[in-house]
Amino acid sequence: MSNSNIRVRFAPSPTGPLHIGGVRTALYNYLFARKNGGKFILRIEDTDQNRFVPGAEQYIIDSFKWCGITFDEGVTIGGEYGPYTQSERKELYSEYAKRLIENGHGYYGFDTGEELNKVRKEYESQKKTFVYNAEERKRLRNSLTLSEEETNKLLEEGTPYVIRFKMPENDIVVMNDMIRGKVEVNTSVLDDKILFKSDGMPTYHLANIVDDHLMKISHVIRGEEWLPSLPLHVLLYEAFDWDKPEFAHLPLLLKPDGNGKLSKRDGDRLGFPVFPLEWTDPKTGSVSSGFREDGYFADAFVNMLAMLGWNPGDDRELFTIEELSKEFSIDRVGKSGAKFDLAKATWYNHQYLVKKDNAELAGLFMPIVVNEGVLVEIEYLEEAVSLVKDRVNFVHELWAQTDYFFKRPETYDPKAVKKRWKKESFDHISKLKIVLAEITEFSSSNVESIVKQWIEENEYGMGMVMNALRLIIVGALKGPHLFDIIDLIGQEETLERIDQGLHEIGRKE
Ligand code: GLU
Repeated sequence: MSNSNIRVRFAPSPTGPLHIGGVRTALYNYLFARKNGGKFILRIEDTDQNRFVPGAEQYIIDSFKWCGITFDEGVTIGGEYGPYTQSERKELYSEYAKRLIENGHGYYGFDTGEELNKVRKEYESQKKTFVYNAEERKRLRNSLTLSEEETNKLLEEGTPYVIRFKMPENDIVVMNDMIRGKVEVNTSVLDDKILFKSDGMPTYHLANIVDDHLMKISHVIRGEEWLPSLPLHVLLYEAFDWDKPEFAHLPLLLKPDGNGKLSKRDGDRLGFPVFPLEWTDPKTGSVSSGFREDGYFADAFVNMLAMLGWNPGDDRELFTIEELSKEFSIDRVGKSGAKFDLAKATWYNHQYLVKKDNAELAGLFMPIVVNEGVLVEIEYLEEAVSLVKDRVNFVHELWAQTDYFFKRPETYDPKAVKKRWKKESFDHISKLKIVLAEITEFSSSNVESIVKQWIEENEYGMGMVMNALRLIIVGALKGPHLFDIIDLIGQEETLERIDQGLHEIGRKE
């Protein structure tokens, strides 16, 4: 189903790496667009030149590529409504700012930084906070207090100015949010925000509204931190006499413990990333960890993020991005913040790891094995991975679970030797070696039935023999089904490990 009227956007400012909260906002926009057959746009909001960080835009693009979140229009793709980078649209915003002055919704502010600082200090000395609002604007230097001639003179002389929004006095703004419902605010608590700066650039508020309008955005889905800006945005649409989009403000991602927004500090403190990819700060060189580098699969990461704030209405938890694209709806986005849960994130990775086919996992595991100095066929790796994958959450945990498939034990866990290597063990295993040497079809099930029958016939005690054998083959009492291990390492290797183990552990007196 295609619905060309539905158009949503993700509009990041390239001020650093993208927080996972931002990735979730983008994901919900993407899912909303896909579900409704609409378009998803990537717009870069870089009007605040002081906060511009080199590399941040590329980081954002790379993050979405990794996640599998795609755009229909935007930076690097293009489209009918471009350019999609605000600094490249610079020229068009002043016209809209001036339109507001003409229709009485905006005014020129000539106050210098020094002048405003002075007023601010006066307020502070009286323990009050200065706000440039409907009350204060009456005694400051702006086109509302100056005559038309004075204003024109200042403009002609090239005096620096800003353009501010003229907030209506004591009015009620009624807003509708798709998640929160009706929200009302009295304009007396709002200030006269700067819309256009003295450096010739628009502020976020102006550029955002103008672009959403020109790009025909139908639904603005963004983080809750923008809810306080909504009254101004709604008033701006009204001031321009433009149709408003629908708004949905997503609840915050919260820290795992306590309340408050999930921050990088929480990640550092509790040992998990808050960014999708690793990020190196271009100024300080400090490195922040990323989910990708920590070993998360992109599909697990996306699934986990989707469920932080949305639910399908039943207890299903596992969804591919395609499935989410069919099921997603704003109605099922919760009103309260969702706590990030590291155990859950790990659980998701485990679920996806177990579902991946062995060939793919073996391919990912191979570099680690090579790095350990082991040369092995990929098929062998596939077999090893298939036996242990339900025991790990990450590919990088595979080595610790499989090292004995590639090399003979170098040590024998002393605790296990003490507890499980009995007086009789040396004799049992010596005899068992002869049995094993005679087996012609050395498969897991065949070896298992022969060995178990042999133990039973001799009345040796199943646990005692099996533990001793595991200790000799693996070097510890760990690992999957022992006969699967024996099958994979093969008959010759099994017999040699028995020789080595008998020699190393010896007889217990
Ligand atoms: N540039 C804003 C940001 O960085 C966009 C907010 C919005 O979506 O309106 O989050």
